Amino acid sequence: MIVLKSISSLQNALAKARAKDLKIGFVPTMGALHKGHISLLERCRDQNSICICSIFVNPTQFDDQKDLDNYPITIDEDKKLLEKVNCSYLFLPSTEEIYPNGTLLGNLNLDGLDKIIEGESRPGHFQGVAHVLHRFFELIQPHKAYFGQKDFQQTVVVKTLVNNYHLKPEIIVCPIVREKSGLAFSSRNERLPKKARDNGGFIFETLQEIKYRALNGESLRNLISEKIDFLNTKEQTKVDYLISVNTTNLQEVDDLKKGETVLLTVVEHYGVRLLDNLIIN
Ligand code: AMP
Repeated sequence: MIVLKSISSLQNALAKARAKDLKIGFVPTMGALHKGHISLLERCRDQNSICICSIFVNPTQFDDQKDLDNYPITIDEDKKLLEKVNCSYLFLPSTEEIYPNGTLLGNLNLDGLDKIIEGESRPGHFQGVAHVLHRFFELIQPHKAYFGQKDFQQTVVVKTLVNNYHLKPEIIVCPIVREKSGLAFSSRNERLPKKARDNGGFIFETLQEIKYRALNGESLRNLISEKIDFLNTKEQTKVDYLISVNTTNLQEVDDLKKGETVLLTVVEHYGVRLLDNLIIN
């Protein structure tokens, strides 16, 4: 694997791939790689001749400075994992390389999808995500880019970005990879006390129960309200949101007949924001 730190070295490497008309796949990450990231990289490697992973802790997508300061950095371990999955290039740019004119950003048109749900809890987050991806997609011009369903709203925002700005990649969404307990893998899981992490499957179990009972005819609205109350009684647990939305436009829905519906949730557990989701139908 070749590590590229500058845009010029990236462009040189890609020029050779483009001259040979090789398929380029791209997996953007913020590092601290785990099995969720690896599943994206394996898919990318299998579907393309060139597999590029970026590790960039993007400052513009953090609405909380403390969260940015505490973000785990494990580059040496990450490189070993990337070698193991036969990643071709690691793009590891500095903040100055990505934002030469500073990090004050204009507004990208994301059809308002950046302002609802997670965007309401974390103002500016999706604008930051969209800006850095716009930059990466223009620099790399990948044929395919890989994202985890774990960040469901992000996948919808990224598809909107690509569509609204006529960007190149096809967006491939990969399934959520979970720890043994059922807790979705996340770099943030490291911050949970061990016991809480080992018992972290309760969020997924709750989503599965809502799905099962909703498919058996119970009202989604009642189920969600029952389960928010249930989750809030657990130790050190507070639901930020738990809602059912249309998978394409993210508008809230109560009626499964109105199209494909997904449950989205963020639960704060021992001070850690845990995201999860489950498609119902
Ligand atoms: P991050 O490094 O957190 O920005 O994540 C990089 C990519 O990995 C995003 O597309 C995430 O959705 C994806 N990802 C993170 N956790 C998981 C997981 N548990 N399963 C599948 N994909 C994941």
